[in-house]
Amino acid sequence: MIYIKTDEEIELQRQSSLLVGTTLAEVAKHIRPGVKTIELDRIAEEFIRDHGAEPGFKGYGGFPASLCISVNDAVVHGIPDETELKDGDIVSVDCGTIMNGFYGDSAYTFPVGNVSEEVLLLLQRTKESLYLGIEQAVAGKRVRDIGYAIQTYVEQFGYGVVRDLVGHGVGRNMHEEPEVPNYGRRGTGIKLKKNMCIAIEPMINLGVKEVYQDKDGWTIRTADGKPSAHFEHDVAIREGRVDILSSFEEIEKVLNKK
Ligand code: MG
Ligand code: MG
Repeated sequence: MIYIKTDEEIELQRQSSLLVGTTLAEVAKHIRPGVKTIELDRIAEEFIRDHGAEPGFKGYGGFPASLCISVNDAVVHGIPDETELKDGDIVSVDCGTIMNGFYGDSAYTFPVGNVSEEVLLLLQRTKESLYLGIEQAVAGKRVRDIGYAIQTYVEQFGYGVVRDLVGHGVGRNMHEEPEVPNYGRRGTGIKLKKNMCIAIEPMINLGVKEVYQDKDGWTIRTADGKPSAHFEHDVAIREGRVDILSSFEEIEKVLNKK
């Protein structure tokens, strides 16, 4: 079932979604060559708990950590561990919080040190595709209009749009209906209604669209081993305007200082 929230519920959801952004900004301060991904996870968990919330991912479906940290060819669902980030890596950090009974869910992909121009462009264009998808997330549009906007934008660069994982409704549960694919035919899918909340999260590969699950049972990797980027926002559906519940503003303040 698809939940339609009250305006009050959306404001509660917004607090949770915004906390994800400030948590990711805190993590961003520590992203550099040599840092272990498990250290980033510890920083995030402490930050979330210090702000009166719970990590949304820890224990979710048995996931062992507060962040999904996915490096280079890992698309999503990477498990933080003793691996050190290296100069030239890219790292997707996906974070969830539970606050006021609502889940926040947002992700950002960071460059580590000096990253090749080709891969920096992948990051930039994947983020742009997220905002193009969000432009379609208004009442009266159809859910596939979002995926159509994302897919047509990134495929012109020869990138692969991951099909096996999709965005989703978000609220009192982290994953609610409807599914929000990052591809599709415009004008199809369910009609978006005022006060639905969805997470839009393009996962865009530098190479082929195919992915596989790592032996660890979680990490999703690109089939050709090329890097993948992932950006995610929570959005409330409104009439005639876009309403993004999460924010990259604090993250980008940190990045601009680096
Ligand atoms: Mg997420
Ligand atoms: Mg999500």
